[in-house]
Amino acid sequence: MRVVIALSKCNSSKSLYGIRFEQIDSNSWEYTWAFPIKESAAKQEGFDKTTIKGTLIEGDEYPGCPFCNAIGFFLCSCGQLNCWNSKKQRVTCSWCGETGELSNGINKIDVINNL
Ligand SMILES: [Zn+2]
Ligand SMILES: [Zn+2]
Repeated sequence: MRVVIALSKCNSSKSLYGIRFEQIDSNSWEYTWAFPIKESAAKQEGFDKTTIKGTLIEGDEYPGCPFCNAIGFFLCSCGQLNCWNSKKQRVTCSWCGETGELSNGINKIDVINNL
């Protein structure tokens, strides 16, 4: 089983955190843990290079965003993850500042790379 850490930013505080994904099969990943991380440490660990593809499943124990407790997240067209409180449909990406409408939340991610 592959385990990877992908980076996300809190949509409220814009703080950086890592999300732990465990691969379930070739097309699904369960997210199981989230923890605050410094940008320098994330780079050093190579977390900024993480690429995953497929359907995302919320793990039973997933604690949510370490800064605001939001359980969900969304993927911006810039390729970056942001935490998401599952209510706001109009969101602004904490990474690139782009604002957009979400349709059904995010449970599918095609590619995350070049974070
Ligand atoms: Zn947050
Ligand atoms: Zn963005």
